[in-house]
Amino acid sequence: MKISEILKNNRVTVSFEVFPPKQWDKLENTKNTVKEMCKYNPSFMSVTYGAAGTTSGFTTEIANEIKNCGVSPLSHLTCLTSTRDKIHQVVGELEDNGIENILALRGDIPQGFEFKDKQYFKNAYQLVNEIKAMNPNLCVGAACYPETHPESKNRVEDIARLKEKVECGVEFLTTQMFFDNEKFFNFYEMCQIKGINVPIIAGIMPITNANQIKRSIELSNSSVPPKFFRIMERFGDDPDKMKQAGIIYATEQIIDLMANGFNNIHIYTMNKPDVAKAIMGGLSSIINE
Ligand code: FAD
Repeated sequence: MKISEILKNNRVTVSFEVFPPKQWDKLENTKNTVKEMCKYNPSFMSVTYGAAGTTSGFTTEIANEIKNCGVSPLSHLTCLTSTRDKIHQVVGELEDNGIENILALRGDIPQGFEFKDKQYFKNAYQLVNEIKAMNPNLCVGAACYPETHPESKNRVEDIARLKEKVECGVEFLTTQMFFDNEKFFNFYEMCQIKGINVPIIAGIMPITNANQIKRSIELSNSSVPPKFFRIMERFGDDPDKMKQAGIIYATEQIIDLMANGFNNIHIYTMNKPDVAKAIMGGLSSIINE
């Protein structure tokens, strides 16, 4: 099913994310993880794509596994380090497998990477255009940044670029992770003012160990509220307590989003079925209202 259909009527949706393995011998493991996560009834499940294209084959494999489990897959696709032919090949494979949802991304800039004048894709909007030109029936989503993309001069420019990207045919947006809902509320309001009217799915990352947060902040540029730092100070040295505190913090964030009328939630579950289970368990009676 297309994500645009799933998001219709502002019903509550909760989606999960998995990443593909780097090596063939881990493929079966990841497929088992997908099967386990599908038991917790996500509205759809996304699968990431390696920036340098290294795990692109596995992305389609995993998206297929999600589909085989009866859940709608959303296949990520990055373009910065890809040729136009490679993009056509991957989109063709997705079409051949009946996968109709693509999250069109630029990808992070690899260290030492140099932009070439004739480079085909410099930004995600070009990938959106390319996919839509190949097949206008594919449902295309894109990324957005409640705390501004790290390369952007400022928020006004970032949102102007976002609007241009959406106008290329983006049907929904998923946010970068954020730990302070106020950042999301402000961003959403700004998008409304600027006329960005597609559904915006709030991306929530459950932080289940203290090391993970350092890495997550480095990658995402997301700020961490004092409340979360205090949780880390208190429980960071005890893995079990930290994990439970991280799950509860993410669950509370989701409940607060819903209480403020935001019904579309994406959980960066990564490949952790136990985290998906715990959060869905906490939300079950709220979701099935
Ligand atoms: P863009 O939309 O191209 O934006 C990148 C920067 O360029 C922004 O600063 C923007 O303001 C600016 N910009 C946009 N258009 C123009 C223009 N015309 N002229 C000048 N500047 C412009 N990475 C992966 O490698 N694999 C994944 O699977 C993956 N999944 C992700 C999922 C989500 C929900 C998110 C939020 C991120 C994901 N990423 C993934 C990371 C993503 O690739 C990086 O954040 C990347 O740095 C930007 O990607 P983008 O698609 O937002 O790029």
